[in-house]
Amino acid sequence: MRQDQVDPYQRRSARVYAGAGRAGHGPAEPPAGVLYDAVLLDRDGTLIEDVPYNGDPEKVRPVPGARAALDRLRAAGLRLAVVTNQSGLARGYFSEEQMRAVHARVEELLGGFDAWLVCPHDDSDRCDCRKPAPGLVYTAARELGTSAARCVLVGDIGRDVAAALAAGAAGVLVPTPVTRPEEIAAAGWVAADLPSAVDEILRRQRAVQPAEVGERVGTALVVRSDSAGDVLVTGPAIRAVAAGARRVVLLCGPRGRAAAELLPGVDEIIEHPLPWIDPAPAPVDPDALRGLTSRLAAVGADEAVVFTSFHQSALPLALLLRMAGITRIAAISDDYPGSLVDIRHRVPVGVPEPERALSLAAAAGYRLPVGDEPVLRLRDDAVAPRPAAAGDPGYVVLHPGSAASSRACPTELAARIAAALTAAGHRVLVTGGPDERTVTARVAAAGGADLGGRTDLAGLAGLVADAAAVVVGNTGPAHLAAAAGVPVVSLFAPTVPFGQWGPYRVPTVRLGDAGAPCRDTRAASCPVPGHPCLSGVDPAEVVEAVRTLVPSGGGIR
Ligand SMILES: [Zn+2]
Repeated sequence: MRQDQVDPYQRRSARVYAGAGRAGHGPAEPPAGVLYDAVLLDRDGTLIEDVPYNGDPEKVRPVPGARAALDRLRAAGLRLAVVTNQSGLARGYFSEEQMRAVHARVEELLGGFDAWLVCPHDDSDRCDCRKPAPGLVYTAARELGTSAARCVLVGDIGRDVAAALAAGAAGVLVPTPVTRPEEIAAAGWVAADLPSAVDEILRRQRAVQPAEVGERVGTALVVRSDSAGDVLVTGPAIRAVAAGARRVVLLCGPRGRAAAELLPGVDEIIEHPLPWIDPAPAPVDPDALRGLTSRLAAVGADEAVVFTSFHQSALPLALLLRMAGITRIAAISDDYPGSLVDIRHRVPVGVPEPERALSLAAAAGYRLPVGDEPVLRLRDDAVAPRPAAAGDPGYVVLHPGSAASSRACPTELAARIAAALTAAGHRVLVTGGPDERTVTARVAAAGGADLGGRTDLAGLAGLVADAAAVVVGNTGPAHLAAAAGVPVVSLFAPTVPFGQWGPYRVPTVRLGDAGAPCRDTRAASCPVPGHPCLSGVDPAEVVEAVRTLVPSGGGIR
């Protein structure tokens, strides 16, 4: 069939083939607290050696360890699908029949898959399924009876990871010699080979499941100091604790208070700065810490679960908790904790912050209940309705600022992004805190409405919830968007790992130079002249990212 005779539906849609595997739909109600129920695998360069445009079953060579690795996934109850770009079909390099013979050979060598999803197009078709578009991931999830967020995709190039992220799935990059360095830098999760990718998927899956679910406790004290974003990403773990405790008291810092008010499962909040956590700490005040210790003692907690980020220490607080008489303390600590901690948990670097926290909750015997997905969520009754100035839903929120200037979008670039989005037909709302009004005014002057300083965090949550997409750096509102399930164009400065801090389980496109010199510095202000990690973003990339994430056009007027 010539290309111009192809059915127009076929020109836009993925081809779906049943595999020789179990091919079934998942349970209507997924089991409690499980992160993934399906693994999607790229074909060429991931499962089998890449032989360009191969139509010959005799040339199929599995990568080392593939069969055993896939069998470990099958044994763990995970469904498997192949998601593959095969533009050789569009170009006539091989026939569909030849391709099916190749797939039969793959299944002969590697065992059955539950489904095969093939994009038969090339880039010029502008289809919705050719990776990095998310179409194959969405179709695979549907075929497997699950959601994209409950899938993890393994691939060997940046397109694979980008397709996963754009659908809200997790993406693991297993580089080969042809993988470009910038693709490796941009990936939030990199594994050395297919077997180690599989091992880490299974490890993360197990890590959020308690060895045994503990007795329901009376009062649990949970702790998450630091800023709004930190508190929001700890939300799933706090809900897990809440499912196993009659009362949850959250100790947070002043910068996280507004976010703490938004979290489901929290019965009471104690606000106090912790000088060993705050980035610009006041001197230690012994009287204040004595006062805090007394307040913590008055909570009467049966247990404390101390959540921290990977660079923070739980031990100073654990000492205060001991002095407050708390007899069971769980915390992540690489440093030797002596008798300060009863449940000492350790987590490898690179795990998403929400899962890192969930794994500590699991170590303490807590997990999310059935029906509570491991996603960020906010209390419905705490999110304020969007302000009237926002107009109808479907706009694009552009949030240029960040408490850490190293993670903020340069004002001049944000203005060009506002102009480009407006020119593409989007209604743009520019948001920011009261101290960012100069910036939001300048950005909105280039295109859009200025809502800078008009909302508190609860109001911003309401505004974000009705957006078609949010364009934002690595800062609190990205997590508000994730909590509302609103797609994120992430202008992500690589000062901290994307795999830990990227928007969690929500369709995302990552932009910016992931290999810039600020990478992994944790700098609060950019250490490199010109802020090169973000200043090189082309506003046209942002427009294209919104198109990828919101194919229906969303806020197009
Ligand atoms: Zn396609």
